[in-house]
Amino acid sequence: MTITIVSIYPALLGTYGDAGNVLALRHRAGLHGLATEVVNVAAGEPIPAGGDLYVLGGGEDSAQTAAARGIRADGSLRTAFERGAALLAVCAGYQLLGEYFPDATGAPAEGLGFIDLRTDRLPRRAVGELAADPQLPGLPRLTGYENHGGATHRGPGVEPLAAVVAGVGNGDGTEGAIAGHVIGTYLHGPGLARNPAVADLLLSWCVGETLEPLLEPDVEALREERLRSVLGDGWNRPG
Ligand code: GLN
Repeated sequence: MTITIVSIYPALLGTYGDAGNVLALRHRAGLHGLATEVVNVAAGEPIPAGGDLYVLGGGEDSAQTAAARGIRADGSLRTAFERGAALLAVCAGYQLLGEYFPDATGAPAEGLGFIDLRTDRLPRRAVGELAADPQLPGLPRLTGYENHGGATHRGPGVEPLAAVVAGVGNGDGTEGAIAGHVIGTYLHGPGLARNPAVADLLLSWCVGETLEPLLEPDVEALREERLRSVLGDGWNRPG
């Protein structure tokens, strides 16, 4: 089986280095002996409906509004989502999965409505390291950096991805959301380079089996260094 990874509008939603998530997915898939194919979809091009794993990155407010409009008009991401395809959505990409998010003027812009989420403004922009403990057992502490003005409110049935240990995340002590095979998160870094266990989780949904953790020493050293930078010697202690 070849896992088809679809990177949606990487130029429009790529200002924060999130294109690296696709590289991390390919790298992790390679370690697990899984073949991948990457389809980069530029804004205005049709999105394939038959992908296994879709990736949306972060972006500025106006790019985010344009991306939401393009994805909605195209319709194929909804088809893939309803089929249960895996989806990673970071920051602007995460916000646009919900009902609405603030546009560049602060007015609510229509999202895709895939998940019961609403985004308005934080009192102050969140910029800095973000560390959070996942709700799912077996996933280690998450590390990344955040840079967003949005506060995301989950509807009653939507689980957070993690509980914030340092930083802001959704703005209510939680970070991100997980619903079916969809992960939304504020973690940049790129998030999957810093958190290979999340890459493995997404890949496991594509192949239908759990993957071995396969820790890489240089990645573990990076994780420790980044977590220490905000949590000090308690970097690994439960939050
Ligand atoms: N424009 C959104 C915000 O500021 C998302 C930013 C981002 O993707 N980093 O909240």
